[in-house]
Amino acid sequence: MKQVILTGDRPTGRLHVGHYVGSLKERVALQNTGLYDEIYIMIADAQALTDNAEHPEKVRQNILQVALDYLACGIDPSKSTILIQSMIPELTELTFYYMNLVTVSRLQRNPTVKAEIQMRRFEASIPVGFFCYPISQAADITAFRATAVPVGEDQMPMLEQCREIVHKFNMTYGETLTDPQIVLPQNQACLRLPGIDGKAKMSKSLGNCIYLSDEPDVIKSKVMSMFTDPNHLRVEDPGKVEGNPVFIYLDAFCRPEHFAAFLPEYENLDALKAHYSRGGLGDVKVKRFLNEVLQAELQPIRERRKEWEQRLPDVYEILKAGSMAARQTAAKTLRDVRHAMQIDYFSDEMVNR
Ligand code: ATP
Ligand code: MG
Repeated sequence: MKQVILTGDRPTGRLHVGHYVGSLKERVALQNTGLYDEIYIMIADAQALTDNAEHPEKVRQNILQVALDYLACGIDPSKSTILIQSMIPELTELTFYYMNLVTVSRLQRNPTVKAEIQMRRFEASIPVGFFCYPISQAADITAFRATAVPVGEDQMPMLEQCREIVHKFNMTYGETLTDPQIVLPQNQACLRLPGIDGKAKMSKSLGNCIYLSDEPDVIKSKVMSMFTDPNHLRVEDPGKVEGNPVFIYLDAFCRPEHFAAFLPEYENLDALKAHYSRGGLGDVKVKRFLNEVLQAELQPIRERRKEWEQRLPDVYEILKAGSMAARQTAAKTLRDVRHAMQIDYFSDEMVNR
């Protein structure tokens, strides 16, 4: 069986370090293994419109921002197809057919949808399109016959729902769709990176992000203002490492060589954590170290981004060519789906049915 990756992001803002450790870094690594026959990276503008219907300009502007972030992180258009979701109308048609296979109560039980409804204060009136976005996401995944979907932990319920749709479809209409597997980051800290405000998830919608394109002074001031252990008031107090965003970020980003370069008095992260827990280590020192680590990690990304910013017509070409290629794949799946559902009226085979 062909090995295919599909994953993507909503163009609701520039990408942040949560995207990087949760999904982007994994995608680039998988891309460079050479083990995948096809890789599709989708800029999900139609999905972004489900909760930004009144702000089409925001979605449009951020398409380019997300594309620049991809290229800056090492997504290589000669190995991966970058596409814009709304340029593939086949995805909308698939969504419409899949809607018949999902109940309203099943959608209501989806924990990610539940949390997002609360976060967006949609409780009183949920846009139908937003409510159905897990179905449209199933269309995205199945249209490309994805076998692997590298995403952050918040997407687990989406993948479960997608697989239910695949099974229901195949049971009802015959084996047609491919069953996808979720690929989560190995590093626990990367599953769901918290915000700089200590909230459970760094998210564009919550404004608690360090962006991949932030300038060095912005990164530094965000790190120095980060939420830590609220009971760690004086340097000599014992501090809590678990659930402390500064240490979670270090778990996600820091490598042994960072200690040699920026904090040689500690051998590794375990030694730093032990000192913090014992007491006698101030937040400022740990934050300064985290700042150095992030600066080292983000500098090459920011520089590559600036190079691509000088080549915007090329970026548009990449998006256009990617969307056209992706459309062909989706159209082929749609033909199979229509055939399985017996709605391929004017194809030769149907005439003889
Ligand atoms: P929005 O607030 O508009 O939903 P978002 O910041 O949640 O934006 P998405 O575009 O919804 O970003 O997510 C894109 C991908 O990045 C998904 O695979 C998601 O799991 C992953 N991701 C997003 N935020 C984080 C995070 N804080 N930690 C780990 N992975 C994340
Ligand atoms: Mg999201």
